[in-house]
Amino acid sequence: MSNEVIIGIDLGTTNSCAAYVEGYKDGAPSVKLIPYKGGDYTVPSIYAIDDKGNELIGYEAKRQWQLNPKNTIYGAKRLVGRTATSDIVETMKKVVQYGVKPSGDNKEVMIEVAKKELTLQEVSARILNKIRDVASNYLRVPVNKAVVTVPAYFSDRQRQSVKDAGKLIGLEVVRIINEPTAAALAYGVGKNLNEKVVIYDLGGGTFDISIIEIRNQVFEVKSTGGDIFLGGIDFDNAMIHYVLREFQAKTGIDLSTDPVAMQRIKDLAERTKIDLSAREEAPFNIPFITMTPQGQPLNIEMKFTRKLLESLTSDLIDRTLKIVAKVLVESGLSTKEIDEVMLVGGQTRMPIVQDRLTKFFGKAPSKGVHPDEAVAIGAALYAFSLKDDTNLKVQLLDVIPMAIGLEKADGQMHVVFGRNSPIPNAKQLTGTTSVANQTELIMRIYQGDHEAANMNEQLGEFTFGGIRPGPAGSVKVEITFDVNVEGILKMEARDPDTGKTLNTTVRVTQS
Ligand code: AMP
Repeated sequence: MSNEVIIGIDLGTTNSCAAYVEGYKDGAPSVKLIPYKGGDYTVPSIYAIDDKGNELIGYEAKRQWQLNPKNTIYGAKRLVGRTATSDIVETMKKVVQYGVKPSGDNKEVMIEVAKKELTLQEVSARILNKIRDVASNYLRVPVNKAVVTVPAYFSDRQRQSVKDAGKLIGLEVVRIINEPTAAALAYGVGKNLNEKVVIYDLGGGTFDISIIEIRNQVFEVKSTGGDIFLGGIDFDNAMIHYVLREFQAKTGIDLSTDPVAMQRIKDLAERTKIDLSAREEAPFNIPFITMTPQGQPLNIEMKFTRKLLESLTSDLIDRTLKIVAKVLVESGLSTKEIDEVMLVGGQTRMPIVQDRLTKFFGKAPSKGVHPDEAVAIGAALYAFSLKDDTNLKVQLLDVIPMAIGLEKADGQMHVVFGRNSPIPNAKQLTGTTSVANQTELIMRIYQGDHEAANMNEQLGEFTFGGIRPGPAGSVKVEITFDVNVEGILKMEARDPDTGKTLNTTVRVTQS
């Protein structure tokens, strides 16, 4: 790669952030965050269309969210790469006010805003485009390449979807790297470390944990795990449900069906949650939230204490710690062997999260990285290392977050790559035809840790065509499964006797 700028982008569920390396300073790469209007380094990952049909992205979209909840898309990253009928999509439909519907063939999720239908790639593309424009203006050069981060827990399909989003706007996603790995880079590049670190990343929408061994410039992921449906938004929801219950108990009125009231409660819930990280109690007052049947205005007048918030959300923190324990076992390390615990993601600012982790690991989390900026910084460092004219050479040894395998005749999963298998990785399987003159071999590939294949996410139905005619069992097909450094699967099949490559077509059939 030549002497062009490759920026690092943290395309977050709630906020996004971009950074680049401007060169060397005192022998170390100097990373700069790219500021947005007003000097903020993060931009809300929110897209909206206002009543005049204008597109709004970032702060502008967030500002009008309350007034225009139906046409404001937030948290869409949770839907990326999911089939329309998955449980997660069903759950999302209940918590968001914008339209979420299946695409024509029922395979993908479409978003409906202002009577316009958008794919999730189009939504991500618009946010990426905004980040790219801001970066191009700031750096005064066109930015066409980026390293983009994704949660470690993202499947092959979700990773592919981010690459496709880049393609839509002519932004080449030169490499996808995992968010925790990026955070470890931000912490460890150029420090000559020999440490085992835990990256605990609790952001707006997802929870990710990775255990990474740093040996100078080698960053080796030992194990990883997470919950794609656990983040700050669930802490907000716990508060919202409490407010709704209390209000209904007092007035008999259910506010959950009133979108404007819900938006106001949601907004204040998040602000109060953030306040309670810095103080012990905070008022929760919303005037004129609704009216009685007699036309009397009603207010919400409550108080939240930090203790109450902690009790409403302790099960969410328990869930993260259960995953931490499991991932630790998988890494083969004990809590004592962990040198540093790093916190990433805005929700880790909640004091009880830090206290619980301190108890769990027997040491306080490190302040070595900035929770909101570390991921973009790591992505920028990695982007810089990809350029030819740099001395920075980092090596990432990552893993796949969930098993990849094929569906056997009995519907069970035949695992080809186990969970936490190192990547890049390639494996071969040899099959034979099962009927005379068979010309095609069809294989359904899934990703997930469930024994029944169709309980996992289908990556595609691969059809290998052009098989040589012959009696049943006489013709062999050698299939190569190749997971690249980004965790994306490519498959190829050939006839080992003739060396001829077979035609491969892929489609997704799971609905
Ligand atoms: P991220 O996706 O990393 O930007 O994290 C955003 C999440 O962190 C949102 O759910 C925020 O409400 C939450 N958050 C940000 N700051 C704080 C804070 N000081 N205390 C608790 N949660 C916070």
